[in-house]
Amino acid sequence: MKHIVIIGNSAAGIAAAEAVRKNNDAVRITIISEEGYPAYNRFMIADVLGGKIREPEIFYRKKEFYETAKINFLANKKVERVTPGRNQVTLTDKTKIGYDALIIASGAAMRLPKELKGANKHGVMGFRSMSAVKDLMELIPISHTACVWGSGLGALKAAHALTRKKLEVKIITESERILPNLLDAQAADFFAGRLPELGVEVITGQEISDVFGDSDVKAIKLAAGKVIGCGMLIVDRDFAANTRFLEETGLDGETGIPTDQYMRTSVANILTAGDVVQRSGAGEPWYDTPNSWMNAVRQGAAAGNNAAALLENKPDQMIAYEAMLFMETVELFDMPVVAMGMSCVVPGDGKEELLRVDAQRQSYKKVILRDSKIVGFVGIGGDTRSDLFSQLIRKQADVRHLKDALLTEQFTPELVKDLIA
Ligand SMILES: Cc1cc2nc3c(=O)[nH]c(=O)nc-3n(C[C@H](O)[C@H](O)[C@H](O)COP(=O)(O)OP(=O)(O)OC[C@H]3O[C@@H](n4cnc5c(N)ncnc54)[C@H](O)[C@@H]3O)c2cc1C
Repeated sequence: MKHIVIIGNSAAGIAAAEAVRKNNDAVRITIISEEGYPAYNRFMIADVLGGKIREPEIFYRKKEFYETAKINFLANKKVERVTPGRNQVTLTDKTKIGYDALIIASGAAMRLPKELKGANKHGVMGFRSMSAVKDLMELIPISHTACVWGSGLGALKAAHALTRKKLEVKIITESERILPNLLDAQAADFFAGRLPELGVEVITGQEISDVFGDSDVKAIKLAAGKVIGCGMLIVDRDFAANTRFLEETGLDGETGIPTDQYMRTSVANILTAGDVVQRSGAGEPWYDTPNSWMNAVRQGAAAGNNAAALLENKPDQMIAYEAMLFMETVELFDMPVVAMGMSCVVPGDGKEELLRVDAQRQSYKKVILRDSKIVGFVGIGGDTRSDLFSQLIRKQADVRHLKDALLTEQFTPELVKDLIA
């Protein structure tokens, strides 16, 4: 019986396994994960930390799922090496597992900067897993202040969860603004302006050089010299694909595993999906949302389908993964934030922006146009009508006659029904 091995038990790995099983009831499937949990919604770990949901609610595939789908789930097992010449995966406990097709869905992880002095102290940690949540829960009762080093979704979600636990939080980033991959400077300023009242200080344009304390974190020092007392440092920046086990295989690229549109790597029977994949260039509205859950699921589904097709020698049944409109819809500090298309690109080259900030500064909307077509949208707070904007971007409808209405109450499905039909 043919055997498909999947490294990774998260968005991409689970979607791949389900796609394999949908097409083929007989093939053996093994999922390997270095974590000890059934599949969980990684993007919701901050909700567990902040007490918004309880731990069991985060598991989106329960233990029985693996049994029902006839998946051999190897939890708490870490892959040490892949040997394509022998079609073999070696675990750190030296177990060797053979495969007919391999799907690498091992995600990405934070890298601690080498220059950070004192990084080995207890309380310096990343924020990507349930085990990080458990470690943080132990530190919360004995901490007053937390420093979060990063400016992306994970960093902001961690910061919010810690404020819910009544900690003072300082977000530190070397970037000039928070959420640089979602928002332009103006939108980021609007968002950051609402954080001090929630107990969060944002320090931009700064690196951290040192962590102080005997064995536990007591303070951090900014490269510019300022020292900030804190009981923990969460580092959520500088992500790298989890590809250490691919050394000497030639599969690893500069920023992840290069792949074609069928999620095939340079080795015929090895496919890949999710955050571990090397990203292509960005800039136009249709590039993918990098490091996103939905992206990982869609790529995983394609990889699983295609691995099954390849094993059955049915290449015509492979499906291509197609890039989608860049879109992030998320709630941060209890505020809905929607960013799509060219949401963080500096205007220029014939681009035009329409902006509306309400009088109480509770909501912010920006539409980015190019040649009278919408190419980007940002909505923070309030009713963003993001569904209509996404359809207008996808259709590349000419909206010159609607410009005055786009950011008003007149912007309704009825108004644009002919354009999005
Ligand atoms: C705090 C936080 C908030 C986020 N918020 C959002 C959001 O709002 N919206 C959004 O779209 N995305 C968000 N993301 C990103 C999203 O969670 C990721 O894009 C998604 O999880 C990627 O899925 P993946 O399957 O590629 O990898 P991962 O989810 O990283 O899973 C990797 C899997 O590989 C396994 N693995 C890795 N190395 C090995 C090894 N050597 N041996 C065995 N197993 C291994 C791991 O155990 C794991 O099962 C967030 C992420 C975090 C951490």
